[in-house]
Amino acid sequence: MAREPVTQFVARALGLADFPPPEPKRGPRYGASRECWLCGGETDGIGWPQSVAIAPTFTNHNQARAPQSDAVCQSCAALTRPESWQSVIAARAMPVKTWVQAGWHSYSHFVQGDGAYECPKPGRVREILLSPPDGEWLLAINPSGQKHTKFKGQVSRDGEAWCVQFDENRIYATTDDFTACIAVFEAVTALGFAKDDALSGRYNPTATMRAGVSKWRAAEAGLKPWREARPDLMELVHFCALSATAQGFDYSKPARPSQAPTPSNPNLGQMSLL
Ligand SMILES: [Zn+2]
Repeated sequence: MAREPVTQFVARALGLADFPPPEPKRGPRYGASRECWLCGGETDGIGWPQSVAIAPTFTNHNQARAPQSDAVCQSCAALTRPESWQSVIAARAMPVKTWVQAGWHSYSHFVQGDGAYECPKPGRVREILLSPPDGEWLLAINPSGQKHTKFKGQVSRDGEAWCVQFDENRIYATTDDFTACIAVFEAVTALGFAKDDALSGRYNPTATMRAGVSKWRAAEAGLKPWREARPDLMELVHFCALSATAQGFDYSKPARPSQAPTPSNPNLGQMSLL
């Protein structure tokens, strides 16, 4: 059996899979094709006519898996509509800000097979990936807050390796790799460096003096191999890692390298290389 398309997983988990097209004034109610124009999954013969399902404002036409099809499955139809997202937020009384045009393209999504749903912020993404759940889940991160990400994502299933949709990129990693990479990244930011500096490897000279050259060098030595080998994972880590301030770094104190703080990160414990 073909693997369930990501949209059908999300719609099923969130109770949106039953989303029939409206009765038309004339013509057939359902699209004829059995293959969904958008996800390529099964329409069961009760998909929406493509022209009805896909609004003129939908900008993901290049994502169509079956461009020749004239039908869109009910799951995909539901997941293109802002009102279906707003109904999920309202029904679950989720503490998420909504506005008239707010929809699936406005937030990041963390969906679990048992129906749990969150719109995670960076701190929560960090928590999830340090300890991912059992079963099936989808994490689709939308750093700009202006893009559909779930159509492009891939469901992760039990096992070592997972996939996270980060903006336009699919990032494949393991929890062990993520944990190791974020530990060395946060060892750098704990010394007072900006997250952008840790990502790029271009360090602010004042911050380097403040941290102390030998401490900076040791921390950077841990991070450099990740920057070179896994730039994609580094982007994800940069998005959700703790900043210097979040780790208690106090910029108002005079620069005294001997008193530079050590990472205070209860989740990582012994993982720090410093
Ligand atoms: Zn579909």
